[in-house]
Order: sequence, then structure tokens, then C-alpha cells
Amino acid sequence: MAEVEAAVSADLSPAGVAATVHAAQAAHGALIDDDGIVLYAGTNVLSPAAAAANRPALSTRPSMGWPGDKYQVGLDHLDTLEVLAPLLVADLVEGTHAEVRLQSATLANLAVYTAFARPGDTIAVLPEAAGGHASHHARGAPAVRGLTVVDLPYDPRRLDVDHARLPAFLHAHRPRIVVIGASVMLFPHDVAAVRAACDEVGAILLYDASHVAGLVAAKAFQRPLHEGAHVLTFSTYKSFGGPPGGCVVTRSADLAERVSTVAYPGLLANYDAGRLGALAVTAAELATHGPAYASACLANARALAEALHDNGFDVVRRDAEFTRSHHVAVDAHHLGGGDRAGRLLGAAGVYLSGIGLPWQDAGEGMRGLRIGTQEITRRGFTPADQPAVAALVRRALLDGEAPERVRADAVALRHAVNAR
Ligand SMILES: *Cc1c(COP(=O)(O)O)cnc(C)c1O
Repeated sequence: MAEVEAAVSADLSPAGVAATVHAAQAAHGALIDDDGIVLYAGTNVLSPAAAAANRPALSTRPSMGWPGDKYQVGLDHLDTLEVLAPLLVADLVEGTHAEVRLQSATLANLAVYTAFARPGDTIAVLPEAAGGHASHHARGAPAVRGLTVVDLPYDPRRLDVDHARLPAFLHAHRPRIVVIGASVMLFPHDVAAVRAACDEVGAILLYDASHVAGLVAAKAFQRPLHEGAHVLTFSTYKSFGGPPGGCVVTRSADLAERVSTVAYPGLLANYDAGRLGALAVTAAELATHGPAYASACLANARALAEALHDNGFDVVRRDAEFTRSHHVAVDAHHLGGGDRAGRLLGAAGVYLSGIGLPWQDAGEGMRGLRIGTQEITRRGFTPADQPAVAALVRRALLDGEAPERVRADAVALRHAVNAR
């Protein structure tokens, strides 16, 4: 930070700052958008139609309250967006009510905790090493609500909640909310089994579909609300492929009203109406093209997992299967861990991140590498390209080739796919 501060402080006039900002934005765009092979699981690019519907100028127009009953006047046209976007989003994930004003899934989760748990209550979540997100854990949003957090029993072999131990666990801890859905999701959860156990203790079942929302929209992974989750939350900018934001969807008018009352006036005033148009267009596109997009993401993930395995990587699997989603995970223990491997790959023009794995030792750091195929799918990569992607990863991580040399070929591959 001190180095950057020294570099940017040379000219802090408006023109100087604008020049610094434009240069940073252009360089970022060239590195990531033009040249990068982005395998980072928690990102995506907007479709052209969604980008065209994005209106940053609306972001400074607060619109507070229910459509038709606003604090401000003159907002009838924003009411159109506020009714349209939730309608499309709720329908897409098989719910009846959607709250789309929260600006992130972290805030969406906080809204659910606030609506259904009180300070001092307990919630039960997936362990961090099994992909439980910071917004599920004591260092994140639950602490803001004063909640106690306990880890659900987990079966590393099945990569799911340990269903045999779950009922007794819930009886012992009596959580108000049980949270499933994680930051790495290779296989669906057995939602119905978790819901049955929740019903025994009166817990609300929250499924956080932040990573898999695009697949859920396409009914290509699992159907959490149909299978028994009370509430679905998700990020709108990962596999969903929309502008950044968080959604809360349910099939219950009562639960929905409680969440929306927390959203406003509890957590938000201006919620940023500028992104609602892009969200609505993204949802409409997923309703039409979602199945094709999702099956392309899944096919790329399976092909990349196979190719990484063929190149000697320890690809995480359940029985003989690598993945049923757009995610792939690699055990990077012998590569010096996920963080180190991720940094090396970044220098080689391939962008992804580390992730915890359920069998890592306490204090080991992130043992895995996490891959998502949603962005390369949108960029036009097909299963036939995955051996070439895996070869770049092998050269950087197993062959010890100089990152700049690998990067030149990564950029060339990206440009070759663009040119098709
Ligand atoms: C990314 C993620 C979030 C947070 O999403 P934001 O919209 O960035 O706040 C929440 N939960 C899970 C499981 C995630 O992976």
C-alpha cells in the first residue's frame, strides 16, 4: 500500500487523478478482459444486452419503500424495474417472492439472519474448509447480528453434510437457521435430508446458491426451493452472470415480507437502481438461454477436470466423478498449497484462487485450487480447448517453466478463441 501510495501521489489534481484512474482501468481491462484466461470461480462478464441495460446514472436516485408507496416522488418508472426484476428472478429459481435490492450476497445473508434469528441465537453452517463462506462464519455477517456459529457435521468423502450425524447435532445445538451452499460446490447437497432434520427442530433452511445460481436458474444442478430450502440467497455476478448484487428468494409471502422489511429500512436506503435493468435482462436471458449456457459450463468443467487429471494433477473427486457443476477443485498440497499455486498461475496469465479442502490440516492454509468455467464458457471456450488450458497449468505448476513464457501462450490461446 505504501508503494502504491507513493506512486499515485505525484499528481493529485483532478486531471492527474483522472489520468491515474483511466490508466489503471485500461491496464486492468487489457490484463484481465482482453488477455486473461479467467478461471476464477467468483466472477463473470455481463452479456452485451445486460451491459446495455446497466445505468450507472440511476445509482444516485434513491427509491425508498415499496413500489407505489415511495418516500420520494416521481419514481413511477423505477417502480417498473422494481417489480420486473424480482418477478423474473423469483420465477427463474422456482420461488414466488424475490428481494433484489441488497447489494451483495453477504448483505442478503445478513438480512436472512436478521429476519429469522435474534442476538444470542445459534446458526449452523458448513465448515470453512468445506467451502463455508465468510458471510456464514463468526468472523463475518453472523457476528454483526450477534449470533453463535457452529459447524455442521460434514462427510469429506461424500462432499456433503454428514446426514447420519445431522439430526442429533441439530437437537443438541438447536440452531434457528441452517445454512448450506458453499464457495466450492462440486456436487449437489441432499437438500431434502437437511430439510427433514431442520423440521425436527424448527430451523429455517437457507441455501446459499451464490456460486451455482446460474445453474439453479437452468435447473442444471439442483432445485433448492423445490427440494425443500425455505430461503435461497445468491450473488448475481458469479455463474448468474449479472451485475453485482444479492438476492433472497422464497416461496413464502410471510418469510419474504420479513426479509424485505429488514432490507428496507433495516439495511438499505439507496439500494442502487442503476443495476436493476441489467439484472432483469440477465434473468430474462437465463430463462431462455440458461440451459444451453449451463450445460456448456458443465461440459467445460468435466473436460478441464479430465485434462488436469491426465496432466498429473490431483483433481478432487467423489468416487470416480470430478464434478457435476461448473467448478473443479485441485488438491494443491504437493504444489505448496492453493495460494502459492494461484499466484504462480496469475503470473502466467491464468487467474484463479485457492480454496480450503475438507481434509486439510488445521493451520495448513488453503490446500486447494478452485476453478470455475462460467467466464471462459461465455468467452467461447469449448471442451476441445480444455487440454490446452490444462497444459498451461501444467507448465506453470508442474514443469516449473518461467511464468512469462507460459503467459505468452495463454494470451495467444485467449486471442485464438476470440478470433473464432
Ligand atoms: C461469494 C459468496 C458470497 C458473497 O457474495 P457477495 O455478493 O460478493 O457478497 C456469499 N456466499 C457464498 C457461498 C459465496 O461464495
